[in-house]
Amino acid sequence: SVYKAADDRYGTMHYRRCGRSGLKLPEISLGLWHNFGGVDRADPARDVLLHAFDKGITHFDLANNYGPPPGSAETFFGSVMDQDLRPYRDELVVSTKAGYGMWDGPYGDWGSRKYLVSSLDQSLARMKLDYVDIFYHHRPDPETPLEETMGALDHIVRSGKALYAGISNYGPETAAKAISILRELGTPCLIHQARYSMLDRWVEDGLTDLLGREGVGMILFSPLAQGLLSSRYLTGEVPSDSRAARGVFLKPERLTPAMLAKLNALNDIAQERGETLSALAIKWLLKDPRSTSVLIGASSVSQLDENLKALEGDPLSSAELSRIETVLAM
Ligand code: NDP
Repeated sequence: SVYKAADDRYGTMHYRRCGRSGLKLPEISLGLWHNFGGVDRADPARDVLLHAFDKGITHFDLANNYGPPPGSAETFFGSVMDQDLRPYRDELVVSTKAGYGMWDGPYGDWGSRKYLVSSLDQSLARMKLDYVDIFYHHRPDPETPLEETMGALDHIVRSGKALYAGISNYGPETAAKAISILRELGTPCLIHQARYSMLDRWVEDGLTDLLGREGVGMILFSPLAQGLLSSRYLTGEVPSDSRAARGVFLKPERLTPAMLAKLNALNDIAQERGETLSALAIKWLLKDPRSTSVLIGASSVSQLDENLKALEGDPLSSAELSRIETVLAM
């Protein structure tokens, strides 16, 4: 069937400026790490993607290695691009990354200029795009000089294959250096992509302050801790279609009695507000004005809709925030 985007797609989403750049991102963005690979059914995956765009989610996040198998999420995205989204290309912000192992030999991993430039060429071919909006170095490389990696990002932006450069998983010290090298090169760092949720707050130890000071945007991945911060596991059961059942990136061993007590206490706070735990978890991240976007995953349209509810209702009160702190300290 021919896709036509919803006419009211810009009616409810809010867009936040990414650091001190000209680019705005939706408060909720969609990532294709899981659920969009060669092993996943294409029709439901397409439904989730197109539904997201219908709801004002203009930003889709990929990486060379997303799948499985590696590369297949980009191939899938390319097919939807071709079939459905081509007329809307200028309404989309598409990102991809290189930095983890992608192909055999010395040039398919880490942070050399050799790897980054060829990986992006491969990604563009798979996604059937002339350029991506954001290209990231996916993780710091302790062996390659940071000047080379940042120089590769600068080169890529100047070549027109990406409009903006970003970094991901960089600790505050290395991020500070990367931001300063990129600024000197004349390609300012647009954004840092970091893991952040109520269950993993490492960014609060220096990174958030750095990015705020430097005017670099911040997009937050695994905001639901891969599904823990939703109604999925509250009883301690592991549903057979869940990420924990696959057991690779989210291990069922995380569901300890202490974790379940914490999740249920958070769920109580959400319920008293008439909201779900996933909405509470997303709202909690968006309370910081330095958070540009919360980067969620979803394996169904109904999960996506549930998570979009985070944009409705009252902000968290200071009493609720301190109750949340008490639960998180449990
Ligand atoms: P989330 O924490 O949002 O987890 C998403 C998963 O949680 C879904 O796939 C689903 O899993 C479950 N879920 C989501 N919503 C609900 C709901 N309402 N009710 C019940 N279960 C729900 O984020 P991800 O860990 O998926 O990461 C999001 C994106 O961040 C990735 O796609 C990627 O783009 C990016 N990322 C970047 C990394 C980096 O190194 N830069 C690393 C990791 C992610 P299921 O239904 O299968 O149980």
